[in-house]
Amino acid sequence: MPAADARIYDLAIIGGGINGAGIARDAAGRGLSVVLFEKDDAGAHTSSNSTKLIHGGLRYLEYYEFRLVAEALAEREVLLRAAPHIIEPLQFVLPHEPHLRPAWMIRMGLFLYDHLGGRGTLPSSFAVNLHSSRWGAGLKDKFQRGFVYSDARVDDARLVVANLLGAGELGAEIRIRARVSEARRENALWRIGVVDAGGASSEIAARALVNAAGPWVKQVLDPIMGTHGRDNVRHVKGSHIIVPRVHVENHAYILQNSDQRIVFVIPYEESFSLIGTTDLPVEEYENPVASREEIDYLCDIVNAYLATPIGIRDVVSTYSGVRPLYDDGSQNPSEVTRDYVLKMEPGAPGEAPLLSIFGGKITTYRRLAEAALAELKPFFPQMKREWTRDAPLPGGDLPGGKLSELERALGARYPALPSGLRAALARRHGTRAPRILGEAKTPADLGKHFGDTLYAAEVDHLVAVEWARSAEDVLWRRTKCGLHLSREQCDAVGAYLHEQYGSIVGPDSSGRIG
Ligand SMILES: Cc1cc2nc3c(=O)[nH]c(=O)nc-3n(C[C@H](O)[C@H](O)[C@H](O)COP(=O)(O)OP(=O)(O)OC[C@H]3O[C@@H](n4cnc5c(N)ncnc54)[C@H](O)[C@@H]3O)c2cc1C
Repeated sequence: MPAADARIYDLAIIGGGINGAGIARDAAGRGLSVVLFEKDDAGAHTSSNSTKLIHGGLRYLEYYEFRLVAEALAEREVLLRAAPHIIEPLQFVLPHEPHLRPAWMIRMGLFLYDHLGGRGTLPSSFAVNLHSSRWGAGLKDKFQRGFVYSDARVDDARLVVANLLGAGELGAEIRIRARVSEARRENALWRIGVVDAGGASSEIAARALVNAAGPWVKQVLDPIMGTHGRDNVRHVKGSHIIVPRVHVENHAYILQNSDQRIVFVIPYEESFSLIGTTDLPVEEYENPVASREEIDYLCDIVNAYLATPIGIRDVVSTYSGVRPLYDDGSQNPSEVTRDYVLKMEPGAPGEAPLLSIFGGKITTYRRLAEAALAELKPFFPQMKREWTRDAPLPGGDLPGGKLSELERALGARYPALPSGLRAALARRHGTRAPRILGEAKTPADLGKHFGDTLYAAEVDHLVAVEWARSAEDVLWRRTKCGLHLSREQCDAVGAYLHEQYGSIVGPDSSGRIG
C-alpha cells in the first residue's frame, strides 16, 4: 500500500524538462500549489541535448511557421534579460551557395528575421565579403559572399535548473528521480502514484495534471491514464558532435546542405566546436545515441565548407536528443511543425483536467508556460496574472545586466581566486556564485580540486541545492567540466559523490569518446 500524502496540490506536473520546469515556476509565482515529478535528472533528456540556441529558427520561415518564428524572435530579448549569465548573443555567418538558395531569397528571409520579432537589442543582418573579413575565418577559399545575422546561445541544462530553482523558491515541490507510475481521475482530483529512486511508492492528489513528459508524452497519456487519444507524437532524433575548435573567430556558421537541411558549427566551451544537428525519425526514444552515419553526415557537411577537414577521429564527444513533435501528418521529418501544441482534456463536468504538451522549443518555453496556464485558468479563477516576462531567473539579476560587471565584482571580492574560475562560476551561477565561494580566500578553501574549474565546494552545492547526484549530472549537465577533465579526473568526481553522498556511480552515458 503506497504512502498517501494528505495534502492536495493545485497542480501536479509530470516532467522536469524545460517545459515542465517553466510551467512549475510560472504557476508557483501565480499562487498555485505545485508539485513536479521528474523520473531521471533535471533536464536529463531533450532539454539538455539541444543545439543550445535561443533562436527564431531562420529555417522555419521556409515552412511558413511565422507565428512560431515571431514569438521565438521576441523571446530572445526576454530571455537575454532574464538569464544573461547563461544566455548570450551569438552572430551566425551563412556562406552563400547560389545553387541551394538564391541571394534574393536569403535577403528576404533575413529581412523578415530582423523584423518579425519587433525591435530588439541584437544587431541586424548584413551581407559580407568572406575573403576580406574575419567572417570567413576557416572557410574554404571558394566561399566569397556571405550573410551575417544574430541569435543567441544558451546553456540549456542550466536553464532548466534555473527554472526549477525559481519554482522551488516560490513554494513548488520539486521531486527529481521520482517517476509517475499511475494517474487516475477521482472526480475533481487526480490520484497520482509515484515511485522514487529507491523503489518506494507514494500517492499524491492534485486538482489538475500537466503532462510535460516530452518524448514520453504519449506513453504517459495512453497506458498510465488508460486513454487512447487521437493526438500523436513524432519522435525525431537529432545528434551533435563536439570536436576541437574548427575556426578561431567567435561567430557561428550555419551551413546549407544539398538535402536542404542546415547544420550549425558553434564555438563551444572555449576550445571546442559544437556541430549539429541531424533530423531522423525514430521508434526508440529512451536512449538515443549518435550513429556512425550521423557522425559521418555532420563531418561531411563541415568538410564541404571548412578548409581543414575533420573526421570521426577528431570527435571528442557526441550527444543525441529526441524532439517530441506534434504529429501534423507531414511526410518529411524536417517539415513537421516545431510549434507547440497544447491538448486539454477537461474531463466530464466537475472532473479534474489534464493538459498535455506536445513539441515546443527551448526558446519558447516561457510563452508555452503562459499558454498552459491560460488553459488552466478556468479551473483556478484565483490564479494571479502573467509575471515571468520581466522577472530575472535565479542568478540572472546581474549588475547592469552585464556579465562583465558581475565578473568585476567577483574579482574585487575574491582577488586571490583565478580569474578563469571566477568567470566560470559567474557563467554557471550568475549572482549566486558567492553562495559557492563563501568566504574563500584561496582555491584551497574550496576543497578538493577535480581539474579545470571544478572544486568540491561547487559539487557540494550542486548536490545540496541543484538535485545533482551522479558524476554525469555534475560533469555534463550542471557544468560542462566533463569536456575539460581527463577520464581519471571524471572518475574522481564519481568517487567523491559516492564517498560523500553514497551516490550510485552509474555508467558514463555522456557520449564521451575515448
Ligand atoms: C537535437 C535537438 C536540437 C534542438 N535544438 C534546439 C535549439 O537549439 N533551440 C531550441 O529552442 N530548441 C531546440 N530543440 C527543442 C527543445 O530541445 C525541446 O523542444 C525541449 O527541450 C522539449 O522539452 P520538454 O520539457 O518537453 O522535454 P524533455 O526535456 O524531454 O523533458 C521531459 C521530461 O519528462 C520526464 N518524464 C517522462 N515520463 C515521466 C514519468 N512517467 N514520470 C516523471 N517524469 C517523466 C523525462 O524524464 C524528461 O526529463 C532541440 C531539440 C533536439 C532534439
